[in-house]
Amino acid sequence: MSKKILLPLVLLLTGIASFGQLYKKPVYPQGYFRWVTNLKPDIVANMGELRPNHWHMGLDVRTNQVVNQNVYAAADGYISFVGIEPLSWGRWIIITHPNGTSTLYGHLNDFRDDLEKYVTDHQYETESWQTALTIPPGRFPVKKGDFISFSGTTGGSGGPHVHWEVIDTRSSRRLNPTLFGTPIIDNIPPTALKLAMYDRNNSVYDQTPVQYKLAKSGGAYTVTGGIINTSLNKLSFSIQAYDTRNGTGNQDGIYSARLFVDGIEKSSFYIDSIDYADSRYMNCQVDYKMVSTGGSWMQHISKLPGDLSGVYYDLGPNNLVSLNDTLVHNVRIDVADADGNLSTINFNIRNNGVAAPPVKAYEWQAGRPNRLVKSSFEANMPLNAIYDKMNTGYSSTPSASLNSVSARHKLGETYIPVHSNFEVKIKPDKYISPENRNKIVIKRVGKNTTVRKAVWSGEWLTAQFRDFGVFEAFIDNAPPSVNALGSGDVVNLNKAARITFTPTDNYGIADFRAELNGKWLRFTNDKGRSWIYNFSDGRIPAGQHELTVIVTDIAGNVTRRSWQLVRGINPPAATTSGANNLVEEEPVRVIKKTEVAPKKETARPGAKTSNSKKTDTKNGTKSSSKVSSKTTAKTSGKSSAKKTSGSAKSSTAKKESTAKNGTTKKAVTSPKTAEKKAGTKSGTTKANATKKKK
Ligand SMILES: [Zn+2]
Repeated sequence: MSKKILLPLVLLLTGIASFGQLYKKPVYPQGYFRWVTNLKPDIVANMGELRPNHWHMGLDVRTNQVVNQNVYAAADGYISFVGIEPLSWGRWIIITHPNGTSTLYGHLNDFRDDLEKYVTDHQYETESWQTALTIPPGRFPVKKGDFISFSGTTGGSGGPHVHWEVIDTRSSRRLNPTLFGTPIIDNIPPTALKLAMYDRNNSVYDQTPVQYKLAKSGGAYTVTGGIINTSLNKLSFSIQAYDTRNGTGNQDGIYSARLFVDGIEKSSFYIDSIDYADSRYMNCQVDYKMVSTGGSWMQHISKLPGDLSGVYYDLGPNNLVSLNDTLVHNVRIDVADADGNLSTINFNIRNNGVAAPPVKAYEWQAGRPNRLVKSSFEANMPLNAIYDKMNTGYSSTPSASLNSVSARHKLGETYIPVHSNFEVKIKPDKYISPENRNKIVIKRVGKNTTVRKAVWSGEWLTAQFRDFGVFEAFIDNAPPSVNALGSGDVVNLNKAARITFTPTDNYGIADFRAELNGKWLRFTNDKGRSWIYNFSDGRIPAGQHELTVIVTDIAGNVTRRSWQLVRGINPPAATTSGANNLVEEEPVRVIKKTEVAPKKETARPGAKTSNSKKTDTKNGTKSSSKVSSKTTAKTSGKSSAKKTSGSAKSSTAKKESTAKNGTTKKAVTSPKTAEKKAGTKSGTTKANATKKKK
């Protein structure tokens, strides 16, 4: 298609839902994008799958469980952005197309040679491995089908695949790629498993909804007996449903659900176009309490009061089911996939005349700022931070924990989601010496743990959090620990393939920097835990060098260590055995691109050396015994010249922990949570399969 024909189509890109507006399915140019690999087109995830803290925002393109497959530009355009960061999409590319869309390719290994060099130069210029690089239009133009990168499993990926998104360039909203037409055939309608019913006079977080198993009867799904008798007079429903496609057991997210009462549409949602800034509203669409307490991932069809995601359409004066009489009413829920296949849930409902549960009062309301003020604790929730009314559930207990300087303050419940950052203020209840005043962190413990550096505000300590839990302030004056480079006065790295540092800290690492002879040296931090230098980077010439590592924790404590090393020459005679436990020998195995690499176990040796050569920390740091693992997962941006030789290229992905307590480095353009998707999926619902990930 020519650009001229495509330009007007941009105007059809979807708008934002508003009250009373009928949904119009967007019409996109079919066939504009080609499949991004030359492998058999298949996906392991679609847009709208429910992931921890976000919807999945694109397609996960299958790469047959191997990395380093060729990835191609989906259409003409130019490479406009390169991002590199821990977890998230790892290493990714955005291509901007002339028709008003852009496409994103994530979890990549090496980019094409000229781009790889461009990015590496930028990293050395900025002295940062993490990259958010906007590239001008003329620099890397591409034609549809041009090779752009090798695929991988970098970042928060659970297995080799390409994460692919379609973006409305102007608004940066993510568009449902399936609506552009894909080579994947799907004429199987979604499967509905379960229905849950909520008393909407009260908070959805303050009840346990009645659940109904759905079974197919006469072409439609229904509840047992076909009728629900209830005392509720203002209620809503959520459903558990998934979509699947021909020739796969894969369970993907549904596209839409529409609620009709007596034939009149009341509310609906469409996973159609979503802004990344709104992706956290997934927590508002699902029954978060049910998920958090080990139950199914159910999607609300009538949105909660605090929802501003834009995926819902309210089609009347209210989006709920009101039962103001004891007559029988019909409820129909249409569930569709993005290819237009439809399943229907159909049942009757009747108010049984019994008094409805009492309407309760709540401390906090959705849709307004909320505040809690206690004698030694405060919480300030901005507008739109919560999704439904709730009680704060506040309590305080004294703490005798080591280095604690406050009580333990409980706020909210871990099964109630929070949308945006809010301020926590704690008044310390113990003496803090002047030298410790700028070494204080506030720790939140809930389903996971978050640590933030505290900022003083008068007599109060403050920090921003995004989840409820138990909050407590601690003095942290213990610097991080760093494993030794190796043994001997001069560490012999002649046989090393890479150097790995895995610093540890009691509250969390905030920054890592390595220098070779005083100049920044690029270490990668793809999985957010270890920092790795690959000798194939070629930045350590033959000779003896000084390597320095500077690690900073969240509180600001710094550990600095230096070693002498040799590479490409014999070590000085005085040096003892150069063998050390930190480095591993270069693998020599040659694997063809198309071959499935054998699974290599990740070795995590226990006790290791700790011959600290020069230690320069405040507290005389002990060196930790964290040692480089034997994983073959590729995390470096090494030159692609090497790539074509195929040496040790295909690596099998390892599950990596995504826990990243307290670290704060994230680019705004990427999802905050890990991408989850391996080549295969278990038979349980998708959401269940993914819920442990974060
Ligand atoms: Zn993905």
